[in-house]
Amino acid sequence: MEGSFAVKGTIAFTAQRDKFTIVENAYLVCQGQRVAGVYQTLPAACQKIPVLDMGARFVLPGTCDLHVHASQFAFQGMGQNIENGKWNTWFDRYAFPDESRFQNHAYAERTYTDFAKALLKTPTTRLCAYATTDRVATEILMHILAGYGFAGYVGKVNMDRNCGDGLLETTQETLEETRRWLDQGAVGGIEPIITPRYFPSCTTEALAGLGRLAEEYRTPVQSHLSEGLDEIEWVKELDPTLDCYIQAYDRAGLLSPVHPVIMAHCVFPTPEEFSLLRSRNVIVAHCPQSNLNSSGRAAPVIDYLDAGIAVGLGTDVGGGNTLHMFRTIFEAILASKVRWAYTTDHPEQISDRQVLTLPGAFYLATKGGGALWHTGSFEPGYCFDAVVLDDSRFCQRADRTPYERLERLITMSDDRDIVAKYINGSCVYMREGEK
Ligand code: FE
Repeated sequence: MEGSFAVKGTIAFTAQRDKFTIVENAYLVCQGQRVAGVYQTLPAACQKIPVLDMGARFVLPGTCDLHVHASQFAFQGMGQNIENGKWNTWFDRYAFPDESRFQNHAYAERTYTDFAKALLKTPTTRLCAYATTDRVATEILMHILAGYGFAGYVGKVNMDRNCGDGLLETTQETLEETRRWLDQGAVGGIEPIITPRYFPSCTTEALAGLGRLAEEYRTPVQSHLSEGLDEIEWVKELDPTLDCYIQAYDRAGLLSPVHPVIMAHCVFPTPEEFSLLRSRNVIVAHCPQSNLNSSGRAAPVIDYLDAGIAVGLGTDVGGGNTLHMFRTIFEAILASKVRWAYTTDHPEQISDRQVLTLPGAFYLATKGGGALWHTGSFEPGYCFDAVVLDDSRFCQRADRTPYERLERLITMSDDRDIVAKYINGSCVYMREGEK
């Protein structure tokens, strides 16, 4: 058991939807960057491995943020309540001017370092991040995230129409720059992901070229889909031959089964879109806060899950205002209640409602999104991505059950309560004052 170690504490995870496994005074054993198992007493072969005793603190799988714009971190919290405007108002006022600043690589270095440092003090261990159209700045983000020990995907954004000054590329440029970037390959645990921003900002020709690159390099793909009703109208105007929005990506070969595909939002699927999401094995990145904020609506997450469509959660910074995935878990529960209320004929019959449970939403944030990397659970063989959390700051009562403590931790904790974080078995963060 050379190189193995154990973390001892209150171990909790969701091997299945809607059910926490919680084991007190238990050992979570790491062997070769993977979970070996959760044990009440250490097996004979593990008797001599180092044990980090965390007492009654919780040890949880790290969260996976499936949709976050690292390049929007510098204006996170702004533009949360635009009084009126068209679909592009927020982009023109906030996103595009800010993203164009990343052509200054010293600015990119500073801002992406701030992003990574902030992310370190959250439960997130893996992410699917958007950079900007600037290839060099995208590589800077990959190096910084890898340097802090994170794993996941980073995308150089593609835009060859309908975007702000300093971001627009020609079709040829966007494809050539993407190929040059893909040739660099992964940086540590950070791999490239092909990232057409969305159909309105990519020509059909650019999308088709990216589809060919995704197949050639076997690279995953991420984009946005059916986020706003006015966005969907714009997509129809741009290409009246489309039966549904997702068909723009499907025609371009971007939804191939050769590589994973993550689509953010998916709030307003038509029946055709719903079946394409399912038949192409698309993973939905559910971003409850930004959806409620922008359209007052919520994605049909329970319908997706019932249909066997994979769902993870995303913070959608800077459309969303927090990097902390525990907030997103709670918002996903709220969003499911709002959706139930506006889709049912009998909102007064609360006992009938179909909404996300706490373990159900936690599952989406961990094992749901973690399916991309075989992480997010403590079953044997999963990547050892774990976070240690301290709930001693909260007003406690001795008779609280572990479930009640966990519920309060997920709904109330913040960066102060993160004690330690492990990614692929390596400790990437330890709170000041901890050993
Ligand atoms: Fe987004």
